[in-house]
Amino acid sequence: MLKAQPLDRRDLLAAERGTLYKEAETRIALVYPSPYRAAMSSLGYQQIYRALHAMPGVAADRAMLPDPGAPRGRFDTLETGQPVGSYPMLAYSVAYELEIAGMADTLERASIPVLAAERTNQHPLVIAGGPLTFSNPAPLGPLCDVIVVGEGEQLIVELVQLAIECSFNRDRLWALLSGRRGYYLPHLHGETVPPVAAADDALLPARSQILTPHTELADMFMTEAARGCSRGCTYCVMRRSTNGGMRIVPREVIIGGIPAHARKVGLVGAAVTDHPDIAAIVRDVVDGGRQVGISSLRADKLTDELVGLLARGGYRTLTVAGDGASERMRRVVERSTRASDLIQSAKYAAAHHLKTLKVYMMLGVPEETDADVDELVLLSKELAAIHPRVAYGLAPFVAKRNTPLDGSPFAGIALVDARLDRLRRGLAAAKLGGKVEVRATSARWAWVEYMLAQGESRAGLAVLDAHRAGGSFAAYRKAFAAHDVTPTGPRARVPSSAELVKLKRARIGLAGVAPG
Ligand code: SF4
Repeated sequence: MLKAQPLDRRDLLAAERGTLYKEAETRIALVYPSPYRAAMSSLGYQQIYRALHAMPGVAADRAMLPDPGAPRGRFDTLETGQPVGSYPMLAYSVAYELEIAGMADTLERASIPVLAAERTNQHPLVIAGGPLTFSNPAPLGPLCDVIVVGEGEQLIVELVQLAIECSFNRDRLWALLSGRRGYYLPHLHGETVPPVAAADDALLPARSQILTPHTELADMFMTEAARGCSRGCTYCVMRRSTNGGMRIVPREVIIGGIPAHARKVGLVGAAVTDHPDIAAIVRDVVDGGRQVGISSLRADKLTDELVGLLARGGYRTLTVAGDGASERMRRVVERSTRASDLIQSAKYAAAHHLKTLKVYMMLGVPEETDADVDELVLLSKELAAIHPRVAYGLAPFVAKRNTPLDGSPFAGIALVDARLDRLRRGLAAAKLGGKVEVRATSARWAWVEYMLAQGESRAGLAVLDAHRAGGSFAAYRKAFAAHDVTPTGPRARVPSSAELVKLKRARIGLAGVAPG
């Protein structure tokens, strides 16, 4: 039986398949600011691991934030057991805003000054990349020497080559990188983040290097089916305006790259079901006797054939996204999914005996009212009449950089909670309590995410303070006020005079700044 929280590096390595070992002159510590389960579920992290190992004379050794509650001790890499702080370069992959604290934590564990301004050429270089850099990497700035913005598998190779050439000297490296596309040098660029970079199409698809049972997607081989998206949902950083839309990986390349030993295959991408050959690809996987997973199902692209294949491939939950609570809100955010698509999804899920229909929704979207939540209750009745088990994954809307809704205000913690409450009461009144489950992410932490998504570099200083003060919501609220973190962006709302008074009081420590 598997251990619930494997902490020992030897146990983890023994359970892995595909680990890369190599003697090399230069070793890079590839650090993930969340625990092992999350790290090894990240296709980007695995892709960078493989790209670094493919460089002559270079090896990458992984290190992750220890599991919560793990004893504090030496912070070593998995492959060699060497202290992370002894490497000449730490390369981080940061998925989203709340992982910035994990980055600070791992730097402390490695006994490296967390702030770039406090490091010298005696310390390792600290670089970062990953999904967060597609929206707002500015709060990472105070912690990093270099940030790779956007698709990193090509740039990381160039960056490491240049770092070796200049013996990991920061000043010389900065001089070499200055003016090159895709590198954000926080000390030089300040708050002006360079545009998101794209990798050469020839480098697609990203694929798993290591399979392990110790992840959410136990032993699943992940392979990219497409990169980017051709749609234009106005809240999404992966929309068509980012890196030229959707780049499709041919069916034969996807199937040909699956290793013989892989029993589960995950097709990864922002909009996999928009792939023109998706049904044929899933059929190839399932006919090969493998289980299949897809990272993103679009309700308007489901067919009876595709859902039937997914059921054969081991699906138990059909997960789709509606995002806007009502038909009107889906139009507001330019989401092409309609209520009829969600109803049809419920029919497919029921016809193929899938246990659960899961629907992702957002609350607190600009222009939303109580009436939109009431419409969601009505839709729930229709869905529950078709499928015996419906689950909503509800997340508060958080405006991101590089999207048309950048700068839109956060709806407010109280308002999001009130809408959630209204939905729950509506479902109970309609006697749907047992049939429709609501799983909601915290409005408080969504507000923290919002402050970081919309914040400048000083938001990173606030994260460090909050982390050192215990990392609670109250610690973040206090740290944001102390560092004068306020959302900025093209749509940032001009506060009312009452709100200005409230903000002023907050900054001198008299009240919180949390909205709502
Ligand atoms: S939300 Fe999904 S469908 Fe919409 S732009 Fe983003 S990836 Fe594409």
